[in-house]
Amino acid sequence: TPASDAPRKRVLLANPRGYCAGVDRAVVTVEKALETYGAPVYVRKEIVHNKYVVRTLEKRGAIFVDETDEVPEGALVVFSAHGVSPAVHESARERQLRTIDATCPLVTKVHQEARRFARDDYDILLIGHEGHEEVEGTAGEAPEHVQLVDRAEDVDKVEVRDPNKVIWLSQTTLSVDETMERVEQLKDRFPQLQDPPSDDICYATQNRQVAVKAMAPECDLVLVVGSQNSSNSKRLVEVALGAGAKDSHLIDFADEIDPSWLEGVETVGVTSGASVPDILVMEVLRYLADRGWEQVDEVTTANEKVAFALPRELRKAMSDVR
Ligand code: SF4
Repeated sequence: TPASDAPRKRVLLANPRGYCAGVDRAVVTVEKALETYGAPVYVRKEIVHNKYVVRTLEKRGAIFVDETDEVPEGALVVFSAHGVSPAVHESARERQLRTIDATCPLVTKVHQEARRFARDDYDILLIGHEGHEEVEGTAGEAPEHVQLVDRAEDVDKVEVRDPNKVIWLSQTTLSVDETMERVEQLKDRFPQLQDPPSDDICYATQNRQVAVKAMAPECDLVLVVGSQNSSNSKRLVEVALGAGAKDSHLIDFADEIDPSWLEGVETVGVTSGASVPDILVMEVLRYLADRGWEQVDEVTTANEKVAFALPRELRKAMSDVR
């Protein structure tokens, strides 16, 4: 019958996807700062790496700057979820800025590890992407002790003082598999290389990768909602392709979907990075439903219950206002 020849169009929707606890906290921090202090509230760097979130907060009175020297003396500045180096705190103090630190607690944990192992005079090999804000912040905790390892060829360039006193740490949003490859390469050179005291790649990054891996083998196409500068979102595209998806693309908005991607496609996987509000995913589902992909099945691989309290300095200001 003609019906059985028609492609079986369906969507697999990854769960968990989207907002993690650190992003939620950072976005709410800027919203509450605007409510408590009134506009403008300055934010150093994108609060989280998502275009839609940044635009929405800008409309409410947030002003995004690259560096603290763009903030008027004495004004209020929020530090982004990706964390900042001690030098940034210092320059904010010099300009007498009032600061709220929205650094994700799981990034702060990596900073503490960097400080601790630097204090014990280790060589620290930080696996991460060159130029990413989080890496700049973490390395800035102990610039004398940290060497960045990004690509495979960086492994050969590493030089350590004592091969018995070397530890690796990592950015929180890397591909788990690629990171372990890098660690194996490093261990070939430095068999005594120590592992971090606990996972640096955060729960949210890991869970989103596991969900994508579970659905990718069945997908002709995986659409990842997320911005180009979002590390964890980009990794989801790579993980999808690595796990067997025939095609995968990173998009900020539904209108970026190229209709040619959907030609001959039956199963479309949909997920989103940790900085992506679910409204953007709903728009992608609506786009697909309008074109015949009405059936949506969730692929659930974890149930997340993590939540973080707002920054202390903000909680105090909010209770003073009341
Ligand atoms: Fe924190 Fe992980 Fe979210 Fe980054 S991705 S903000 S480390 S929970």
